[in-house]
Amino acid sequence: MPEDVDLIVIGSGQGGKPLAEFYARAGRHVVLFERGRVGGTCTNYGCTPSKAFLASAHNAGRARLAEPLGIHASVRVDQRAVMERVRRVRDLWHDGAEKRVADAKIDLIRATGAFTDVRTVAGGGREVRAPRVVIDTGQDPALPPIRGLAGTPYLTNATWFDQETLAPRTIVLGGGYVGLELGQGAQRLGSAVTIVQTGSRLLEHEEADATAVLEAAFRVDGVALELNARAESVRYDAGVFALTLASGKILEGEALLVATGRTPATADLTAERSGIELTPRGFVRVDEYLQTTCPGVYALGDVANQPAFTHVSWEDFRRLRSTFDGTPRRRDDRVLSYTTFTEPQLARTGLTLDEARAKGIDASARTIALEDVARGTEWNLETGFYRLVVGPDGKILGATLIGYEAGEIIHTLAFAIERGATWRDLDDFVGIHPTFGEGLPSLARLFESEAT
Ligand SMILES: Cc1cc2nc3c(=O)[nH]c(=O)nc-3n(C[C@H](O)[C@H](O)[C@H](O)COP(=O)(O)OP(=O)(O)OC[C@H]3O[C@@H](n4cnc5c(N)ncnc54)[C@H](O)[C@@H]3O)c2cc1C
Repeated sequence: MPEDVDLIVIGSGQGGKPLAEFYARAGRHVVLFERGRVGGTCTNYGCTPSKAFLASAHNAGRARLAEPLGIHASVRVDQRAVMERVRRVRDLWHDGAEKRVADAKIDLIRATGAFTDVRTVAGGGREVRAPRVVIDTGQDPALPPIRGLAGTPYLTNATWFDQETLAPRTIVLGGGYVGLELGQGAQRLGSAVTIVQTGSRLLEHEEADATAVLEAAFRVDGVALELNARAESVRYDAGVFALTLASGKILEGEALLVATGRTPATADLTAERSGIELTPRGFVRVDEYLQTTCPGVYALGDVANQPAFTHVSWEDFRRLRSTFDGTPRRRDDRVLSYTTFTEPQLARTGLTLDEARAKGIDASARTIALEDVARGTEWNLETGFYRLVVGPDGKILGATLIGYEAGEIIHTLAFAIERGATWRDLDDFVGIHPTFGEGLPSLARLFESEAT
């Protein structure tokens, strides 16, 4: 017979862990299954180590690009020290997650959890049953069907940060945000990087003029871009990968990073035993309250087929907690914001102009170049632009910012959208001179005149 407990959480990711912690601290018996490192992808293989890696990379890159400011720096990168620091930062957050789980007295089972029956999960020699089960199993790296790839020592985000030093040459497969962040980072830290992208441009789902800015910046850094390129086969011989493209071109490198997408971690769940439906791509099917097709079983974060960001999973936790405590909260009434932490950063909130028009909204947009923002010129950080999208009533619907630390600046606009602000509200707001933030009221003011 399974043990009866109050709550089961499968996966200690960005939403599951705080949910388990909240109810365990409230005195409930919470069982948490984790097959890997506590803290999930973000802490161990994603946001935390990648941003620590980029902190070193972008400082090196900025030093090299400081010549127009009269600074002629000769940069020497100690890759071993960089990678050791990355792992120290990662482990600090991982250890913190472990401590929180222990302090909250969560019943942690370090094993893969799989459904054996309705709301019943087994793993690590135990079988437990609860009135509520939450699936937070996230995603794993997806491997493309490239001849010869399996069996070679390719890297993914799960192994990248374990490198002691970087390879002299790195081939990056995939021009999405993981490939771009790690690719630009590696180039700035001394590896010669080639990014292979099947589409005609990087980050294909973003606006073309924004990705053009990024591509130009990557070329200034020395990153080689192979666009419209399909990898057909790979060989690994004497420590060197040889990647053959459909064009016949062969790329060589001592490291190959596979960053071609992610796939939901549901293969081991035997979800059907609890009547839980998956989508054709293997995500857990949920309704607007994150409930699966099995009453009492919920899913949150990446595995629920949502935008794959830590703040989405974490916000799911808050909504689910509210639902569990008697005030149901939908998952689809929030504004999505995110940033690609390249340099310059590409930050987005809400809708693009095309997305708004596709929804039938008579939207319009204005764009200001960073060379028209005093801070940009003064600090020689003029690369990029800010774009604001508004509806027919003037309400702010979305923004795209590409520029230095754009991910910080965009919060003002995300908040403005959440609060239903109009471009006139933004125009009325007095920014601090000379900051990048001051560019936002200047951008809003452009709505006073017709679009040109
Ligand atoms: C390189 C990289 C950089 C990123 N950078 C950012 C960023 O800067 N900002 C951002 O917002 N997002 C970023 N992300 C995305 C972010 O990491 C994910 O969106 C987030 O971690 C998803 O959280 P989650 O709760 O859905 O699951 P996860 O954090 O993926 O956690 C799932 C957990 O479930 C465990 N698990 C899976 N199956 C089972 C099972 N059957 N039994 C037991 N345990 C199981 C896994 O081991 C894992 O620990 C990045 C991702 C990558 C790969």
